[in-house]
Amino acid sequence: MPATTLRQQFLRHNAQTSSFPLLLEFVKAEGCFLYAADGSRCMDLISGIGVSNLGHGNPEIRDAAKAQIDAYMHQMVYGEFVVAPQVEFAAKLAGVLPPSLNSIYFVNSGTEAAEGAMKLARRYTGRSEILGFVDSYHGSTLGALSIMGNETYKTAFRPLLPSVGFLRLNIDSELDKISTDTAAIFLETIQGESGVQVPSGSFMRRLRQRCSETGTLLVLDEIQCGLGRTGSLFAFDHYRIVPDILLLAKSLGGGMPLGAFISSAGIMNSLTASPVLGHITSFGGHPVSCAAGLAALTVLLREEIIQKVEEKSRLFASLLNHPAILEVRRKGLLIGVQFSDFDFNKRVIDACINKGVLVDWFLHESSAMRICPPLIISQEEIHWACQVILEVLA
Ligand code: PMP
Repeated sequence: MPATTLRQQFLRHNAQTSSFPLLLEFVKAEGCFLYAADGSRCMDLISGIGVSNLGHGNPEIRDAAKAQIDAYMHQMVYGEFVVAPQVEFAAKLAGVLPPSLNSIYFVNSGTEAAEGAMKLARRYTGRSEILGFVDSYHGSTLGALSIMGNETYKTAFRPLLPSVGFLRLNIDSELDKISTDTAAIFLETIQGESGVQVPSGSFMRRLRQRCSETGTLLVLDEIQCGLGRTGSLFAFDHYRIVPDILLLAKSLGGGMPLGAFISSAGIMNSLTASPVLGHITSFGGHPVSCAAGLAALTVLLREEIIQKVEEKSRLFASLLNHPAILEVRRKGLLIGVQFSDFDFNKRVIDACINKGVLVDWFLHESSAMRICPPLIISQEEIHWACQVILEVLA
């Protein structure tokens, strides 16, 4: 179909989420680049928002997915049959997680992982209150939306979940809001959509301690910041604390849709009785997604990828030097470049895209530019990307 017609059809028949979609159109993706039909390319500095951590077209991931398609695609709703790719991927994940995070419930997406964790926490503790943080993002379904720390996206959808409250990050006195009525508190280990906010070590330790004192489950959302992005396999590794429930998605499936909520078998077993089938999902842990995810994790652990993340992050920070840049917030390759206002940010972003560098803004911090490239980005590619950004600023 000619490009103009395809665009028209997109606007007519594909549900729209805003009145100003980017309308970019690519036909191929490889490494850190997205390619248009005319052969022009755009450097992907956002990885489909933290999905393509190993870049595009990794042959091992592709081959694993193809082999699984040839074997079978679907057998049964999650949790009934012994499905080899699910079992092998769960075992591999359990092998790299702390011993208490040994039970993996595969779902379809990040928001479903958050929903599963909310249900699990309520079921296990017998409590109903769930706390979150200001400017947090855990997904777009009603439950996850309820614990999103930004009214703009919530008000129109009320009534949402009752018994929800919010804490401000890095303020110790806020931790008093966690009580013996609190089933769980959700926190992104590194907040993404707030424009990259990094909790302090002491705050994280006190949060862990307060949860343990009150019997509240600590849920760390590493859907965006997990699996190597911050320079360690899991972002909680930086803090030497272990959550009661861990959420993964986005890069977990190596480009295929996959999420997971992960806990101890002891906690997770509360979904098996009274009622039985405490969470049901037809496609959760899809065999092709699990095969791709297992291949992606194998590559991530085998290659020296995570070890080089901090060095690459520092290179971005050292190159992104300009009076218009008020601050560069970063943890590994989750980077927020702060400008004065949205209009300026948007003009910079649009100009970067025109020059072949795909960047974006953040949901809760629209004055900051998102840089969240594939972890495999090379030093040369970082130099080139930053040169384009600086040219735009000039
Ligand atoms: N949690 C975090 C931290 C996220 O960044 C996102 C997605 N931006 C989600 C949850 C929701 O994931 P999904 O879009 O797969 O539902």
